[in-house]
Amino acid sequence: MAHDFLPEFRPGWVWLAGAGPGDPALLTLGVHDALRQADVVVHDALVGGDILRFARPGAVLEYAGKRGGRPSCRQADITTRLIDLARAGKRVLRLKGGDPFMFGRGGEEAQALAGAGIPFRVLPGVTAGIGGLAYGGVPVTHRDFNSAVTFVTGHDAGGEVPDALDWAAIARGAPVIVVYMGLGKIGVIAERLIAGGRPAGEPVAIVADASLPSQRVVETTLADAARAVAEAGIGAPALIVVGEVVRLRRELDWLGRYVVPASPEEAERRRA
Ligand code: SAH
Repeated sequence: MAHDFLPEFRPGWVWLAGAGPGDPALLTLGVHDALRQADVVVHDALVGGDILRFARPGAVLEYAGKRGGRPSCRQADITTRLIDLARAGKRVLRLKGGDPFMFGRGGEEAQALAGAGIPFRVLPGVTAGIGGLAYGGVPVTHRDFNSAVTFVTGHDAGGEVPDALDWAAIARGAPVIVVYMGLGKIGVIAERLIAGGRPAGEPVAIVADASLPSQRVVETTLADAARAVAEAGIGAPALIVVGEVVRLRRELDWLGRYVVPASPEEAERRRA
């Protein structure tokens, strides 16, 4: 079976992989190998058709997505499914958006596999909070601005802004804060950061559908973030990045600057 970079995908194994933020160009060669070998691909909502098309013909694609506000599979059902498929002798590719160990519950799934004695391998991916922001023209670190960065989730298990987090400490911490799953609560998050001492005028960018053709970026400030998001009408998935690195977009928004239309017809369509 086709594989160039990884060992053969053995029946009864689960490979827990990250597909990156959306652009298939950000798939690793390892995940590409895995897609060509898997019998079953159990994937999240954030893994789209542009990536699943690399699955071998005949592979079963199973959606096990969880997305705020939509009907979702229970996490326990997903892990049980992975274990059952592996015990049935399938090569099971569990494919998540971004990196499986970054706010993706990959750690929990790996623990369940380990506990059940299922052999598994982890294939890291490009996380949206780094690669996705790069597509938005924001470098997550820059020597002139920050030597630390905080990755934080805007959602707890119940969908609320996590109270267990010390937002004042986060505000005082790294100069750059990247918030995953925070769009719906951006107003509360911004208020807590301002209350914790961040300037109300600090630059913020929201990058929605990062690396996808539908990518949109909104530049705003902490004080104005909730209004700007509502006005722009952007939706999830989106990242929020707070910090002076956002100003670099002016120079570094390579995607916005150099997008080359795919064909004369496409150029015509865009002009229309
Ligand atoms: N494991 C993933 C994160 C899963 S949590 C990773 O490493 O990227 C889901 C959150 O990730 C979304 O709510 C959003 O904040 C972020 N996200 C994932 N893909 C994204 C994309 N293409 N554009 C913007 N945000 C994205």
